[in-house]
Amino acid sequence: MNQEQKNFIDGVFTSTSTSNLEVTNPSNQEILGYVPETDSEEVEAAIDAARRAQPAWAALPAVERAGYLRRMAEAIRRHREELADTILKEQGKVQALAMTEVDFTADYIDYMAEWGRRIEGEIIESDRPNENILLFRKPLGVVAGILPWNFPFFLIARKMAPALITGNTIVIKPSEETPLNAFLFAKYISDIGLPPGVFNLVGGRGASVGAQLSSSPKVDMVSFTGSVLTGTRIMSAASANLTKVNLELGGKAPAIVMDDADLELAVSAIRDSRVINTGQVCNCAERVYVQRGVAAEFIDKVSKSMAATRFGDPGQTRDLDMGPLVNMRGLENVEDAVAGAVAAGAEVVVGGSRADLDAGFHYLPTVLTNCSTDMNIMQKETFGPVLPIQIFDSLDEAIALSNNSDYGLTSSVYTQDLSTAMRACKGLQFGETYVNRENFEAMQGFHAGCRKSGIGGADGKHGLYENTATQVVYLQY
Ligand code: NAD
Repeated sequence: MNQEQKNFIDGVFTSTSTSNLEVTNPSNQEILGYVPETDSEEVEAAIDAARRAQPAWAALPAVERAGYLRRMAEAIRRHREELADTILKEQGKVQALAMTEVDFTADYIDYMAEWGRRIEGEIIESDRPNENILLFRKPLGVVAGILPWNFPFFLIARKMAPALITGNTIVIKPSEETPLNAFLFAKYISDIGLPPGVFNLVGGRGASVGAQLSSSPKVDMVSFTGSVLTGTRIMSAASANLTKVNLELGGKAPAIVMDDADLELAVSAIRDSRVINTGQVCNCAERVYVQRGVAAEFIDKVSKSMAATRFGDPGQTRDLDMGPLVNMRGLENVEDAVAGAVAAGAEVVVGGSRADLDAGFHYLPTVLTNCSTDMNIMQKETFGPVLPIQIFDSLDEAIALSNNSDYGLTSSVYTQDLSTAMRACKGLQFGETYVNRENFEAMQGFHAGCRKSGIGGADGKHGLYENTATQVVYLQY
């Protein structure tokens, strides 16, 4: 697909913008294609198209909107190989995970389509005789979806499907690192008969296109997934118009391994979660707290398991556990994080350096011990295949260490004792807690973080209703 893509605005592929962004493969730096660096006039056109289309879209019965979503899911399934291949190339995702991402995205759109017959309001008891209080759920209007690069295809669905089924229209801006899958998606759904302007796609940079979407008075919600820093910028841009924000930001998920844990399970779940997508996942174990009684055995086993990770260029070898980091900045961040930890007293058990491969941003699966809570490696998101480990004595101590974080997205605990698990769940201040497993979250759950991990959430009923406004009607008769 080494060609220039066009924006999808008002149901047409178009681009009046004069410059392009180059998209490259992080495994070998090969140029994969170009997407428009959309100018402000064209961004405005996309927002206007979404605004024009919204009232008629909202007026359709939700079950008809669901029909369009189902056709999108079918289009994805028809083109799953090409979509997965594009994600593999532009993000560096391994084949199996790229396929999973595509299939899950189609299922997610179908799941949101099912809400077409399930969106509900409320009837509230009135203080007055002969009155009903009715709570209606209505669309917000136009949603802007600003996407990260780590699950670039799935995030289209996570933003778009709940927005559309509830009667909103949308403008999507993919990450400049991984936009090609979104342009392919637009191509595949362009013939399903979707009314023009309901789904719009614009390429470009965050500082220009993303900022314009966030500060537009014609956008009713900015739904963003990405870093904390960008989240704060979006929130301040949106504040000028008091535009609603839905922010899914980073994580620094603690995994607590108790003395009574099923150690084989804990080792394999934590290791898998640390290497999946090369550690670039917001809800994967980013720091481990292991109880003293099993610490030596856990460290030994998890280190062997990390060292056995199969990595390389997913375009060359299909059967891999992980590919490269997304770009040079990602690789340097991981390098700096490990160097900083070692300088502060951490010890490298395995890994600890770039991988010796010809091309690509590869870092060795790494285990660090002797870590302490004041180290950056235990506080800042690493977003790479690095597992820092700290030893604790009591559950209360592990809970306190876990909660001592700017982030509050996900957490996990490994124990075979029900009351230990429940005490941990009660004490952990995180949007999600996994017991005896790691990610991923379910589409019918609610993915939301506390502290700097975000505002609002996605998935399930609660994520769906983030895309709605309420109207209360007092009906006296
Ligand atoms: P990023 O914040 O660098 O970029 C995300 C998007 O924001 C991109 O499309 C970018 O162009 C845009 N952007 C950048 N500056 C902007 C601005 N000033 N205004 C508007 N938009 C702007 O994040 P990333 O590096 O692509 O993604 C990695 C981060 O995302 C990690 O921190 C990760 O934890 C987080 N993440 C969170 C979740 C979650 O569900 N909580 C899921 C995936 C990733």
